[in-house]
Amino acid sequence: MSEKTIYPRGRLLMGPGPSGVHPRVHEALSSPMVGHLDPQFLGIMDNIQKMLRRLFRTENRLTIAVSGTGSSGMESAFVNVVEPGDEVLVCVNGVFGNRMSDIVERIGGVLHRIDRPWGEVFELSDIEDALASHPEVKAVAIVHAETSTGALQPLEEIGKLCRSSGRLFLVDCVTSLGGERFEADEWNVDVAYSGTQKCLSCPPGLAPVTFSERAVKKLKGRESKVVSWYLDLSMIEKYWTDGERAYHHTAPISMNYALHEALCLVHEEGLEARWERHRRNSAALVAGLEALGFRLFAQEGHRLPMLNAVWIPEGVDDAGFRKALLDDYDIEIGGGLGEVAGKIWRIGLMGETSSRENIMTFLGALEALLQESGCLESPGAGLEAAAAEPG
Ligand SMILES: *Cc1c(COP(=O)(O)O)cnc(C)c1O
Repeated sequence: MSEKTIYPRGRLLMGPGPSGVHPRVHEALSSPMVGHLDPQFLGIMDNIQKMLRRLFRTENRLTIAVSGTGSSGMESAFVNVVEPGDEVLVCVNGVFGNRMSDIVERIGGVLHRIDRPWGEVFELSDIEDALASHPEVKAVAIVHAETSTGALQPLEEIGKLCRSSGRLFLVDCVTSLGGERFEADEWNVDVAYSGTQKCLSCPPGLAPVTFSERAVKKLKGRESKVVSWYLDLSMIEKYWTDGERAYHHTAPISMNYALHEALCLVHEEGLEARWERHRRNSAALVAGLEALGFRLFAQEGHRLPMLNAVWIPEGVDDAGFRKALLDDYDIEIGGGLGEVAGKIWRIGLMGETSSRENIMTFLGALEALLQESGCLESPGAGLEAAAAEPG
C-alpha cells in the first residue's frame, strides 16, 4: 500500500462489527468542520439526544453519545454508578461479561460473578439465588446480546427483580440496539450502553448511553469522585444537556455528524421494521447454513438475529478458510474468541449488512470454498434453502 494515500479496498463486513456503512453516513462524515460550541453543532447534539431516546425507548434525560467506542460506554456505565466498596453482581456467559467483571474490579467495586456456559443464557432463578447469597449487592450487570457467542439474554424479568429489590440494573446492548427489541424504560433498565458500529451501521467511535433518574441520583449522591476524569458524566452532562454548555472535552465533531445521519436512517426505517428485517434475514442465512450441514452454537430459542455463531465443520481450517474468504471474495466474518477460538465462526448481519443480497453473496462464496476444500459434494443446497425463506 502506498504511504502517500490511504485507499483500502471495500469489503463485505459480515463479522461481529464494524458493519457496512450507508453512503449517507459517509457523506455526513465529510461535512465541513465546525466548533464544538457552534450553535449548529449544539443543534446536532440536541437531535442526537432526541433520536437516541427513541432508539433506547426511554424518557431518560441523561441520554447522550460518549466519546469512544462501545467499551467506553461500558466503562462509563460502571465508573459513574459504582463506588469503591459497592457490591456488584455481574453475569458472565462470554467475553463481554468478563470485561464488565474486570472493570468492576479495576474501580474497586466488590465483584460477585455468576457464570453460565458460553452460548447459554441466564435464568431468573440464577440471579435470584445470587442475590439471596449476596443481599448487599447494589447493582446487577448483564449483556443483552453476547457477541462472542450469539446468545440473546431475556431481560424483562431480571429488570423487574432489580427494580422491586431496589438495585440498579446495568445492561450492555452494544450489539442489540437497533437490531433487536430493546426497551430501556419498560424493562426497568437503569443504565444501558451501546456502540455505533454494530446494528447502527456507523463507523466505530461513539457510545450511546442512557441513565435513568435512579442512576443519576446515585451519581449525584456519590461520596467519592468518579475515578475516571474523561468519563465523568456529572461533568459531561453540563456540556450535553445543560443550558450552560460548559466545555469538558472537544466532542468528536465528525463522528457526531455520522451518528446523526445513522440515527435518521434508523428512524426512517422504523424500529419495529428494522428488528423484523434482522429476524427475517437471519432466518434465511440460518436455513442456508443448516442445509449445508452447519450447526448453530448458541442455545436454541435464544439466538441473535444479527450475529449467527456456527460450529466450524470437521476438517475445515479456520484461519485458512477465513483468509480465502477475505482474499478471494472480499468477505469478512469473525472467528471465535477466548475459549471458542478456532471452534466457531461468527457471521454478522448487522444494520446495513443485513440484506438478502449479502446473504446470497456469502452463501455462494461459502459453498465455492467448501467445495474447493473437498468438504461439500453438491453445492447449491445452501443458496436454495435461503432463497426459499420469505423475503
Ligand atoms: C463490540 C462490543 C463491545 C465493545 O465495543 P467496542 O466498540 O469494541 O469497544 C461491548 N459489548 C458487546 C456486547 C460488544 O459486542
